[in-house]
Order: sequence, then structure tokens, then C-alpha cells
Amino acid sequence: MIIAANWKAYIESVNKAKELNLLYKKLSARTEHEIILAPPAPFLALLASGNKSKVSFSSQDVSVTLGGAKTGEVTAAAVCASGAKYAIIGHSERRSLGEDNELISEKLQHALAQGLTPILCVGERERDDTGNYLAFLREEITSALSVLSKKDCTKVIIAYEPIWAIGKTAAESITADDLTEMVLYIRKTLADFVSVRNSTNAKVLYGGSVEAGNVSSLENCGIDGFLIGHASVDSKSFSELVKAITPSA
Ligand code: PEP
Repeated sequence: MIIAANWKAYIESVNKAKELNLLYKKLSARTEHEIILAPPAPFLALLASGNKSKVSFSSQDVSVTLGGAKTGEVTAAAVCASGAKYAIIGHSERRSLGEDNELISEKLQHALAQGLTPILCVGERERDDTGNYLAFLREEITSALSVLSKKDCTKVIIAYEPIWAIGKTAAESITADDLTEMVLYIRKTLADFVSVRNSTNAKVLYGGSVEAGNVSSLENCGIDGFLIGHASVDSKSFSELVKAITPSA
């Protein structure tokens, strides 16, 4: 299982970043799951360069631009040079700032061109009785992947993160039945771009109020891991969560 930790902008001090990173190193040494840490950009090189632990690193985003006279942009090349292997792209908190499917597709291409593995976030804002949310999800995946080669499509990790479930509590998160259904739907959508075998083998994560309390009820829903937000920045919550995921689940 993959346990990807999105620190968002929760961590704002070097000391806190180093302290939590130390815990992550210890946890990664004791678990067979892969822990991926996505710290705020200024802490990425600080934690990732020269990293000898089993923790892998990700950016929380990449720029849609290439390098040059682009003040404030963090390019995929710079992310890669910082020691990251992964890049979260299309997070709903970025989409809410105006990022659309077209821009996200460009970011995916920049990340892949640098050899980064994109973690593409998709997910509906709300559910409706007529199933429009399924079409919405299909469109997010389709527009991101349709310009990629088959080979590049197989490299993309999909993080299914229904927006209505983000930033709440375990009790308000998705149910196991609904998650199972959505993961099947995502794999079916992926089969339009890659072989059925590769769609079955594609890595699909779930994110949205995953805590120690619900992680074991969701781990057998056809997913390959979790994207964790608020529970990833609290030492106790994150330790409990990592321990609650069954080995070789
Ligand atoms: C997220 O926003 O990626 C996320 C999973 O957040 P949380 O765990 O806080 O719901």
C-alpha cells in the first residue's frame, strides 16, 4: 500500500518539518507500506535531498510553465532536482483556485517529461441522484489522459478524492461500498486509455478524511493506498493510521 501524506500548508516551520520527518523515517523503517511525503515546496529539498530513509518525496504541485523568467513558479524540473519522485497534480484545492482540466493535463506532461510520477487528484464536488458525478469524474480523467501516450498513462497514479469528503472526520468520509464502486468505475474509465490488464494494475489511491478510525474499513476496496491530509501532520494520528493498515492488504 502507498501512504501519501499531503502536508498542504499546515506545516510552516523548519523545526516542525524536521521533527515530523523524523517520525516518518522511523515509521517507514517499520512498515512494508511506501510512505510518500509531500511537504510545502520550501521544505522539499530540505527534507528530500540526501534522504537515505525509505520515505519517498512528492511535490504538492508543479508549475504549468517551463523554466525561465517565471517569478514564483516551481517547475517540474526543479521539483525533480529537489529529490522528489512524485508530483501531486490537480488537487481540488488547486482546482478551486482556477486550475482547469486543460491546465492540469499540461502539468501532467511536464511532470512526466521530468520522470516524476504524477499523482492525479480527481473527485466530484457533490453527489446527485442522476449520476452526473460519474460523468464529471470520467471527464476529469479523460481530459488529463487523452493527450498522453499509452505508456505515460500507465505511469499516472489516480487519487480519488471526493471533495465533499475532504477535511472532515472519519465518520463523514466515504463508505466502503461507495468507494469500491468508484474504484471499479475509475478502472473502467482507465481501460479506455490502457489495456484492461494495465487498468486493473493501475495504482488508485483514496483521499478524503482518512484517519486511524476508518483506514482499515477502506483498505480492501480495490485501492492501492491512501492520500492523507490533516491526519498526516499530527504525530499520534499518523502513527496510528500507518499501524492500522494491514500488512500486505
Ligand atoms: C486531501 O485534501 O488531499 C485530503 C486527503 O485531506 P484530508 O485527509 O484532510 O481530508
